[in-house]
Amino acid sequence: MDQHMPQARHILQSTFGYDDFRHHQADIIEAIIDGQDVLTLMPTGGGKSICYQIPALVRSGTAIVISPLIALMQDQVDALQQLGIKSAFLNSTLHASEQREIEEAFIHGAYDLIYMAPERLLNSYTLNLIDRCEISLFAIDEAHCVAQWGHDFRKEYQQLSMLHERYPNVPRIALTATADERTRIEIIEQLALQQAHLFINSFDRPNIHYAINDLGNGREELLKFIKENHPDDAGIVYCLSRKNVETTAEWLNKKGRTALPYHAGLHQDIRQEHQQRFLREDGLIIVATIAFGMGIDKPDVRFVAHMNLPKNIESYYQETGRAGRDGLPSNAWMNYGLKDVINLRLFTQNSDADELFKRMMLQKTDAMLGLCELTSCRRQAVLAYFGETLEKPCGNCDNCINPPETWDATIATQKILSCIYRTKERFGAQYIIDIMLGKDDERIKANNHDQLSTFGIGQEHSSPEWRGIFRQLVAHGYLATDVEGYGVLKLTPKAWPLLKRSESPQTVMLRKLSKASKVKKKRSSSSSNAAVRRFAQDLSTHDQELFEQLRQLRSTLAKDQNVPPYVIFPDKTLVEMVIAKPGSESQMLEISGIGEVKFSRYGEAFLNEIMNR
Ligand code: ADP
Ligand code: ZN
Repeated sequence: MDQHMPQARHILQSTFGYDDFRHHQADIIEAIIDGQDVLTLMPTGGGKSICYQIPALVRSGTAIVISPLIALMQDQVDALQQLGIKSAFLNSTLHASEQREIEEAFIHGAYDLIYMAPERLLNSYTLNLIDRCEISLFAIDEAHCVAQWGHDFRKEYQQLSMLHERYPNVPRIALTATADERTRIEIIEQLALQQAHLFINSFDRPNIHYAINDLGNGREELLKFIKENHPDDAGIVYCLSRKNVETTAEWLNKKGRTALPYHAGLHQDIRQEHQQRFLREDGLIIVATIAFGMGIDKPDVRFVAHMNLPKNIESYYQETGRAGRDGLPSNAWMNYGLKDVINLRLFTQNSDADELFKRMMLQKTDAMLGLCELTSCRRQAVLAYFGETLEKPCGNCDNCINPPETWDATIATQKILSCIYRTKERFGAQYIIDIMLGKDDERIKANNHDQLSTFGIGQEHSSPEWRGIFRQLVAHGYLATDVEGYGVLKLTPKAWPLLKRSESPQTVMLRKLSKASKVKKKRSSSSSNAAVRRFAQDLSTHDQELFEQLRQLRSTLAKDQNVPPYVIFPDKTLVEMVIAKPGSESQMLEISGIGEVKFSRYGEAFLNEIMNR
């Protein structure tokens, strides 16, 4: 073990108040302290920050954290200062005099960490400044912004490769919660991280309950969902259009919830104010377009609701991932309709992108639809999409809890697989369907595919029905799409036993292509389960009152300092306090999230509150 690891562990315990490292944190920290480059992929809430914060404290010099959103730097620095860590940010919100002061202190080594956006870092003035400072490491947060393939592309991120050339001896750590392989490859290439240690965490977020429904009146369903599960919790509601954002927020306000709109059409000051209130007040709902959310660190967002279909699984997972960063039970809820599906397709088809890109987008759309139509565990499917295997169904999604009706599609599946096999895995879904329907088509004839035994064997379903089956087969992993983006469907190892009927008999069950109304009734009762498990409701009435009291105290302390409440203590720490009811300093320090500095600031106040009950 690295000689510095005991020191790192000590910081984890005394400064951050945590018992142990999670996942790969220890290995990542060790590599960085040792001066090596690291690329780490971890889901939101996985604990990325301490992967650079602890090395920043162990290594000598100042760590530069590159982060895309200046609006959030204040909160990040506030959170560190609460822990007694010397940190600052450099961005355009500072007055010239403040900036000069910080630069001066930076040169004199006053900070362990300093945050800046890439534009700031890359200008020659800042680079000259950095040249005069001792730098412990570069942390490139939200590193997927470097990837054009990704969904938050920022062109300044691509220039960050210069760090490597200009400061070859300073270790770099790139961090992202984006899991897909293409983005990962692009990050490595763009940032010249070929030599970096790669740490990929499980992307599972077990505390998030996933539910997707296509029930008619989305808004009413949303209200019902919120009332049943989150009567006073903070949450995000995503809508596609600005107009829907406005009307949904208004409507929720009429129904008795405080809901604030957020979209790119609102004045910058209003957006800033709404975001700020969402972070600082308890139990607010923000209704937003996807313009909202990147880098939002609020750990106690208890639900994320989608009123439309996200454009792909990456977006869905990233957006829903903003729920429950603190690890407590949370809900990802989505309502979508046929219109969404059509709009999404039109949007992709009519985009100005080149053909290849369009085809990739269409595939992503298909995968997203597959997730919606799934009859089996949603979590297994999402994780499989990111290349991860979850052995057993999760038991914490709508399909696991209330399985939808299915039909035996084994024969239909075999027909598809056989047709793909006979056409040598070189075609897309529509072509295969045309063969199965026995379509009179020039291309089919030219390829002699009208001579195949599978020509015309699929008359029992319509073309759209077959497409639905195809989508489900992709989602279930019987078929894979080509990485190059040509829409070609290939058989996966999972498909082979089905194709060779001689082997162990296997059935494929797919979601029934039935009338929506039938499914409706069955599924309407599915969403309330998470409520049962909500932590606060598991507490006794007495403890719930104490929890409320501690929340009040936290709120007051936060307001006094103008910081978000979770910066003082996260909910999880409050829950632990309620359960353990510490009566002394040493008992208090055993609680996760309470380190020495936090204790010295707030320990007494919370101890008193607990003991005076
Ligand atoms: P990310 O940036 O990956 O979304 P954060 O760094 O914000 O995640 O961490 C998520 C939460 O988990 C935070 O509240 C953080 O303090 C907590 N956390 C991180 N590492 C640990 C650990 N080893 N033990 C307990 N809690 C941790
Ligand atoms: Zn499941």
